Amino acid sequence: MRFSTKAIHVGQEADPTTGATIVPIYQTSTYTQEAVGKHKGFDYSRTVNPTRVALEAQLAALESAAHASAFGSGMAATAAVMNLLAAGDHVVVSDDVYGGTYRLFSRVLERYGLTFTYVDSSDPHAVEAALGPKTRLVWLETPTNPLLKLVDIRAICDLAGNDIVVAVDNTFATPYFQQPLALGARVVVHSTTKYIGGHSDAVGGVAITNDDALHERIKFHQNSVGGVPGPFDAWLVMRGAKTLALRMRQHERNARAIAEFLERHPIVERVNYPGLPSHPQHALAQRQMTGFGGMLSFTMRVPEQRAMDFAATLRYFSLAESLGGVESLICHPARMTHGSIPKEERERRGITDGLLRLSVGVEDVEDLLEDLETALARL
Ligand SMILES: *Cc1c(COP(=O)(O)O)cnc(C)c1O
Repeated sequence: MRFSTKAIHVGQEADPTTGATIVPIYQTSTYTQEAVGKHKGFDYSRTVNPTRVALEAQLAALESAAHASAFGSGMAATAAVMNLLAAGDHVVVSDDVYGGTYRLFSRVLERYGLTFTYVDSSDPHAVEAALGPKTRLVWLETPTNPLLKLVDIRAICDLAGNDIVVAVDNTFATPYFQQPLALGARVVVHSTTKYIGGHSDAVGGVAITNDDALHERIKFHQNSVGGVPGPFDAWLVMRGAKTLALRMRQHERNARAIAEFLERHPIVERVNYPGLPSHPQHALAQRQMTGFGGMLSFTMRVPEQRAMDFAATLRYFSLAESLGGVESLICHPARMTHGSIPKEERERRGITDGLLRLSVGVEDVEDLLEDLETALARL
């Protein structure tokens, strides 16, 4: 079965009691049992819910995997994977991971005795140098936010070997453009809030693996801690995921056109988009991904204030955090998504005050280009 067929059919059998073609929203916390312990496999909705089960089957299939566990947010999914670890364990992390991931690791999990080393994981040697006898997990994100740097997943999985779990946050690329498990990763995490849900109307997360033992432990944690999505949110994410391929193709086509337009514009200093031949890791992008996604960032030759004003005057790009919805968004990372990182550290990582990030939506690209062109002309 191919990608879109899986998205539309796996886990989506007609409802056995009514024949409803679409999986119902099983808005129930509990299930009536025939006799003590005699039930249809459902006992309590933190543990198991039919709408969530359908979503999990669908999302596992999209990563060509055996198992998925859905969560109430991407962070809850990340926390579940981190609960595979124990006090004293060491983790190597990409130095430009999602801000919320950094916060979870540094402000929550360090208190539980985990230690973290942050490295520029776009350089596999930096990852290798950071591995130690206590390293149990490598946490990667690729492409990274907001600079769209890439990490060579296969190279790092080869370095990590069998004893170290490589986990990849695949939120930016989506399973449509990148399949980390096939490159050697053991776990994939998504914020389904973004492209997988795709309509900016639900928060969710998922952890996906082919490893039965790892899955059992994540499932155990899902039930023990209880960070599960409600049935309606599970259903919204599932509905969104059915059109993931269609949307990703359009996101990419639009992003590529905008990246090329911006790169040609004299006021634009630099465009970060893995699909551009000017991207330093374009060859890796072509090898590792089947498409380049809908996210890009760029800097302009103007003072910070004017870059911020520009972001606020666009007509179709809403000034907002988050990404991956059908509508286009623009954000100023230094003051918005990455505002909590000290300025010096931010600049060291290349997140300068003039940097803007676009989540390119699926509108007609001519409208998006006109919008950018008009705002650029006003600068
Ligand atoms: C948004 C995001 C997260 C966190 O997901 P939530 O659903 O907001 O909890 C994690 N990783 C990446 C790359 C994200 O963009």
